[in-house]
Amino acid sequence: MKVMKFGGTSVGKAERMHQVAELITRDDEPKIVVLSALSGTTNALVEISNGLSNRDRNFSKHAIDKLEQHYKQFISTLLKTEEAQQKALKMISEHFEFLNIILKISFSEALNKDILAQGELMSTKLFSAYLTEVGIDHELLPALEFMQIDAYEEPLIGNIRVKLTQQIKHHQDKKIFVTQGYICRNSKGEVDNLKRGGSDYSASLIAAAVNAEVCEIWTDIDGMHNNDPRMVDKTVAVEQMSFDEAAELAYFGAKILHPASIWPAQHYNIPVKLLNTMEPSAKGTLIVEDAGSVGVKAVAAKDGIVAIKIKSSRMLLAYGFLRKVFEVFEKYRTSIDMITTSEVAVSLTIDNKENLADIIQELEAFGTVEVDENQTIVSVVGNQIVQTPQVMMRLFDAIDNIPVRMVSYGGSKHNVSLLIPAEYKTKTLQALNKGLFNL
Ligand code: ADP
Ligand code: ASP
Ligand code: MG
Repeated sequence: MKVMKFGGTSVGKAERMHQVAELITRDDEPKIVVLSALSGTTNALVEISNGLSNRDRNFSKHAIDKLEQHYKQFISTLLKTEEAQQKALKMISEHFEFLNIILKISFSEALNKDILAQGELMSTKLFSAYLTEVGIDHELLPALEFMQIDAYEEPLIGNIRVKLTQQIKHHQDKKIFVTQGYICRNSKGEVDNLKRGGSDYSASLIAAAVNAEVCEIWTDIDGMHNNDPRMVDKTVAVEQMSFDEAAELAYFGAKILHPASIWPAQHYNIPVKLLNTMEPSAKGTLIVEDAGSVGVKAVAAKDGIVAIKIKSSRMLLAYGFLRKVFEVFEKYRTSIDMITTSEVAVSLTIDNKENLADIIQELEAFGTVEVDENQTIVSVVGNQIVQTPQVMMRLFDAIDNIPVRMVSYGGSKHNVSLLIPAEYKTKTLQALNKGLFNL
């Protein structure tokens, strides 16, 4: 079994969806095809939901109508026959009826998740309608019947495996299964999701659950590049990297992969391939246990970081002090990304601001607390970079004029992280592209 995930741009236009159908029928291997919502849809659904939560129903209504028009147009180019188009229009209209009904209901978090789920539900049904029209035998598997997370939003791989295998067994004559990325059910049985960009995570979890031979992530670029192509002009694809390297890049901001998408594949040792739907013959990036080469592979940046400094000349070196500090973060289920200590202070960073006020209040019991928001972590990731000669010299040479707030070195063999004020992000990424990659 192989898993093939196609992202928003890969299904965002009718001709792209046609091409996806071609890509999944190039070989006879059994496969699970995981789809995102059409590009722009989840953003539109977020806006509809925000309008509802701000009691701006007119705004939401306008956004719903605009989205519906987009889907009507999409169907007219996706499908050829009048019959197939009518069927698809009817199916889509049910989802828009739902959105119009919720306009009359008061907003809740559960409703928000229901709204956000509509994108993947519609894209998979439309793709299935197209496959049916062109006579490609397949089965649509509802992700809401097998994709599950627990009360801490962690996926329940065991349950996913049992339920998904059962569903596949019911259709032993089928070779192509289509399902939704991103959406799942939570511990209360409600519709939920794996956070923005979560279809990659769905694909990797599904690959782990069925012990797939490969998990292919098809997107709009030819693999993981050495730097963020949205901010840096000259970037190149990396041919091979290890799970550890890819996980760090995903976690530290390489948007091509959801931050949590590598661990399921790594745990079950399933190769991940990043491939380009627009250029299927491009090599892409292979992610396996073996890094393939030594040295710096790529740079990524993660925004929205908060730096917290706790200063206490009296207590810092006392044993047990750091434990007390960490306990505060544990209590609020907030993970720490970077940490540095000096004799009188400890600085650390978090990316989850949800409980910031409570965290600060509790930390104030230990000393003076300083908070800097709008920070960015820039991570340099590679294989054994810490041991690679001259890497550190070239790195710091390149960012000579950047006000670096924190440095994390040696915590892992494949990562050096810098904390900088967010406004220096582009400049830093560009400088590192020259300094580390000569690009
Ligand atoms: P999809 O909709 O297929 O999930 P995404 O937009 O989530 O696609 O991810 C692909 C995008 O990630 C690329 O178009 C690119 O702009 C961005 N990106 C950011 N960093 C990197 C990187 N290091 N390598 C490749 N792409 C990256
Ligand atoms: N459609 C979802 C999003 O836009 C999930 C995904 O595309 O991976 O975030
Ligand atoms: Mg994505």
